[in-house]
Amino acid sequence: MARILLLATGGTIAGQADAGAILNSYTAGVLGGEDLLAAVPQLQELAAISVEQIANVDSADLLFDHWRLLVGRIREAFQAEPDLTGVVITHGTNTLEETAWLLQLLIDDPRPVVLVGAMRPATALSADGPLNLFQAVQVAVSLEAPGHGALVVMDGQIQAARQVTKVATQGVGAFASPGRGPLGWVDDTGVHLPMGSGSRQVPFAALDLPEQWPQVAILYGCVEPDARMLTFFLEAGMQGLVFTGTGAGQLSAGERSALGAWAGPRPLMLRANRCGSGPVHSDAEDERFGLLPAGSLNPQKARVLLLLASIAGMDRSALEELMIDLARG
Ligand code: ASP
Repeated sequence: MARILLLATGGTIAGQADAGAILNSYTAGVLGGEDLLAAVPQLQELAAISVEQIANVDSADLLFDHWRLLVGRIREAFQAEPDLTGVVITHGTNTLEETAWLLQLLIDDPRPVVLVGAMRPATALSADGPLNLFQAVQVAVSLEAPGHGALVVMDGQIQAARQVTKVATQGVGAFASPGRGPLGWVDDTGVHLPMGSGSRQVPFAALDLPEQWPQVAILYGCVEPDARMLTFFLEAGMQGLVFTGTGAGQLSAGERSALGAWAGPRPLMLRANRCGSGPVHSDAEDERFGLLPAGSLNPQKARVLLLLASIAGMDRSALEELMIDLARG
């Protein structure tokens, strides 16, 4: 029988409200992983599942230390247990895509790592958590899943860590992969992953995560942004900055002149965009300002990449090479 390690971190899937019709005023991260498992007895037909609790928080309150624990536990389990089929992680939906992308960059094992959450608390009428969890395990034990890296299973869709993002505040179909679509589907007829995964980049497979993480901030582009924010972050010595530029990752004149005037050390800086889909390409001024285009990474995933690049001690040119490699992969 397949063997699954279920790592619980909290979120709405583990949330409780006072009544079945309450969908918004609930407490996330109340039920433990064992409770989630017990609520879906059908899982016993799919796999032998062992449960560990990494955290029990709303994912807005997730900390770097939770990430360190999660990564350490997955690496250790894959290394020590050759008969482990895969890992399933229950997670709040708000930052699920960041954890998925983090794991994609750090976990070098073909066995599946599947993240799953819910948009309705466990107490809701028609809670989506139990079926999502069942389907996440269905994917994790399927013969099609290995080699795809970290996957997100929500509402019957299987999404890739790199593209998946939360696109709605309400409703069970809140995840999408803009510009690409889901990798596949899962239902009662099985797991459908029609596309091969190709070769996969795991640029930080050997990276040890520290107790103290660098600081990487995200700036949001808009009409007349206050460039003092940028100067503040530069003076504060942030190790990384992500610009959520307008359009194809454009900075305002005020931001460009604040960057041009800055004589101190430049952090790693990526230009992402606020459009929600489409790439940011390099432009003529990137080199002068010390910027790099984030390609198709959204700002929060660009930040995850900068966190790891900074931990790895990369400079701008090493990061540039990595971005080229990632764009190919
Ligand atoms: N507040 C929740 C979280 O932990 C939202 C959810 O899980 O859907 O991200």
